Amino acid sequence: MIRYKSTRGHKEEKRSSQAIIEGLAPDKGLYVPTSMPELPFNLSDMKDASYQQVAAKVISAFFPDFTREEIENCVKKAYDEKFSCPEIAKLVKAGAPFFLELYHGSTAAFKDMALSILPHFLTTALKKEGEHHKICILTATSGDTGKAALQGFADVEGTEIAVFYPSQGVSQVQKAQMITQEGRNVHVHGIEGNFDQAQSGVKKIFTDDEFAEKLLASGVKLSSANSINIGRLIPQVVYYVYSYLQLLAQGAIAPGDKINVVVPTGNFGNILAAYYAKAMGLPVNKFICASNENRVLTDFINTGVYDINRDFYLTTSPSMDILISSNLERLLYHLSEGDTGLVAQLMKCLETEGRYQVPEKVKEGLSCFYGGCATSAEGSETIRRFYEKHHYLMDTHTAVAAKVYEDYRAATGDETVTVIASTASPYKFADSVGEALGLSTSDSDDSSHSGRNCARGGNCSSNSKDSQGFAAIEMLNSETKVAVPKGLQGLDKKPVLHKGVISPEDMADAVLSDLKIQ
Ligand SMILES: *Cc1c(COP(=O)(O)O)cnc(C)c1O
Repeated sequence: MIRYKSTRGHKEEKRSSQAIIEGLAPDKGLYVPTSMPELPFNLSDMKDASYQQVAAKVISAFFPDFTREEIENCVKKAYDEKFSCPEIAKLVKAGAPFFLELYHGSTAAFKDMALSILPHFLTTALKKEGEHHKICILTATSGDTGKAALQGFADVEGTEIAVFYPSQGVSQVQKAQMITQEGRNVHVHGIEGNFDQAQSGVKKIFTDDEFAEKLLASGVKLSSANSINIGRLIPQVVYYVYSYLQLLAQGAIAPGDKINVVVPTGNFGNILAAYYAKAMGLPVNKFICASNENRVLTDFINTGVYDINRDFYLTTSPSMDILISSNLERLLYHLSEGDTGLVAQLMKCLETEGRYQVPEKVKEGLSCFYGGCATSAEGSETIRRFYEKHHYLMDTHTAVAAKVYEDYRAATGDETVTVIASTASPYKFADSVGEALGLSTSDSDDSSHSGRNCARGGNCSSNSKDSQGFAAIEMLNSETKVAVPKGLQGLDKKPVLHKGVISPEDMADAVLSDLKIQ
């Protein structure tokens, strides 16, 4: 039976329910399955199956300690009318590639695919394990995870959730989504710093034994909704399998044909899920890993050297403004065939020197990945071109992926059928998308928005419209007539419930205060 073990060598193997409750392994490593399950069905037999049917089967294969009924129940509660399309994940062809739209959930970003179901896994796991402690979910967010986690966990019995976002590093719409979140158990904090600092702060809290004991004395345990939690990663495997089935159903591919997968990448969770799908037996040719100006992963895939000693850029695809991609640790584990000593050593290097180089064997394993990057300007041009040529509207993150795919195709001549993960509604980044289409919010909306600070602070010369997200939504809608997602309607009129901004050093204290612990 599949169990979960740490990438860094901690001996104890856990049931999936335990790994979901814990989030991070005791040695700071990430939980990985002890073996990869095979696809539990013949792909051709499933081409007419619903998303929910595929999800139940794929997830059950990874979480064998859950009963079939338990998994089906979680799936049913997660993938329902919260999603605005019956396919849940919608496949749309525009030009050569297919776009797998993963943003039709309640917060308009792909994080909903996993965070709609994680709370149900967690409450089921707590019951199975006879866990009576309250669980406190800690989450660092570059913008989209925070809202999706808040929405998923709001008022879920037995849980509290605290979200930390870089106060100058998210868009106006993302910020509004979070600071207006309702729920008895939700806590939202801006931090003075960037996403990596928020993530390091959360990791630090997780590995502070004294802190854990203090919480335990008050009946609270910590867990995570970041993609380091295996309960978030596995639901993402589903939509890659499902997209293949849709391609089969549409006759775009024949059984056994390979596909390429392109993923706009930040923390490496989404693309790792595609890798897991292949490990289960999904025919994938190349994983195309797309980065923005923060091209750590592009360089890593091309050279085998991971190096964060470089400038950090604020871009129009903020959910990818990340230098430390946590889930890469899992890939290193798999490519080194479970060499936990090596993984622990590389992670130590990263912590102390901000850099590591993988051995030749691991580098060879990277050959099924193609790494490419695109600038905000190239993304913008891509948005405009796809809209003009194919009448297809995409967001800034998806645009980075589309551009990198075009570069890949031009460089290699590879015509393999390709699926691009479309990770956010264009309305979530309406300011930048509107600008790409040549729509100007400043002309029409000077009065109500001038004088606001640039939402991303610092170097905001190229992004000055970020403070005008709401005006941009209206403008984009009147130009394109594409429907505005329900979760983004009326957001500017909701009361602000969470105002605090703190220093990264004060994150632990904030958690104590959220939990009303002295
Ligand atoms: C989170 C996010 C990404 C990056 O996904 P990872 O799993 O962290 O690589 C890309 N695009 C959007 C819109 C996101 O919200």
